[in-house]
Amino acid sequence: MNDVLGECLSPHVAAMRRDCGRLQWHLRCSGRRRVRVVAWTCPCLATVYELCASGGRAFIRRTVQAEPVPMICETAWGPPREAWEIWASLLTGRVR
Ligand SMILES: [Zn+2]
Repeated sequence: MNDVLGECLSPHVAAMRRDCGRLQWHLRCSGRRRVRVVAWTCPCLATVYELCASGGRAFIRRTVQAEPVPMICETAWGPPREAWEIWASLLTGRVR
């Protein structure tokens, strides 16, 4: 993490709190559907989270950068407002 040097432009997820909730992660289901990534965490960490929107709905995508292929999971699609709430909880370590 290069945060101390000020090189990271995107947020990092906070450490999990003790009462951290668990999100339901599903294997990637958006497939090749076009989604808009509206927020993302810093790619300097192995796990990158993205808030994606498509057709009036939104979800969180989790990518674990690994060789030979990244592991991609997603939360269930839902109203954007819910997705933003999950996003805020994710960044502050309240869910993972
Ligand atoms: Zn970073």
